[in-house]
Amino acid sequence: MAGADFANLHVSAHPAVQHKLALLRDQSTEPPKFRQLVREISWLVGYEALADARTRPVSVRTPLEQTDGLELADRIGLVPILRAGLGMVGALLELMPTAQVWHLGLFRDERTLQPVEYYNKLPDSATVDVCLILDPMLATGGSATAAIEVLKKWGAARVKLLNLIAAPEGVRAVQQAHPDVPIYTAALDRQLNERGYIMPGLGDAGDRQFGTGGG
Ligand code: URA
Repeated sequence: MAGADFANLHVSAHPAVQHKLALLRDQSTEPPKFRQLVREISWLVGYEALADARTRPVSVRTPLEQTDGLELADRIGLVPILRAGLGMVGALLELMPTAQVWHLGLFRDERTLQPVEYYNKLPDSATVDVCLILDPMLATGGSATAAIEVLKKWGAARVKLLNLIAAPEGVRAVQQAHPDVPIYTAALDRQLNERGYIMPGLGDAGDRQFGTGGG
């Protein structure tokens, strides 16, 4: 489903996604269940995001006869944004087992809310056709915009953004800077609060996955 007023935003309308999302948001959902839900929702939203991946014909022999089939032609790159994006990788690798995984480390400076790059081991030129950036939360859009810039400079021909929850502020920022980059998400939430958290959101997606929110 296209998102409200945003041209290149796709919000999943699938009942299974929405059911799992409510469980994900629930503050009583513990890290093991939370990680499982991140994986399941990532699988479903990723499936929608990669529906236009290119294929080429192959011939295959069944036990009964020779027939025509299709194989994936696009080289897919998964780019999880450390650390919260890590929980989305397994699902996407199940969906696209031949995908390459390239990690990007960006943290949000809590004072300026701007992204700071601290890990990037991309080779000199792009080795994939499609890059799927994985980050559960699209908040200000600072990290996503920075990641898209890195990947475009790298030479990625097509870049897509995969989130679980997006804030309108983040969608606007990404689409102003990169209108060609489609955003796939399970939810478009109301707004950011004064601390940069998505409302109603789910809290800190990294802490909730990795059990580090207890102080
Ligand atoms: N990152 C998170 O983990 N949660 C938010 O609400 C915003 C950014």
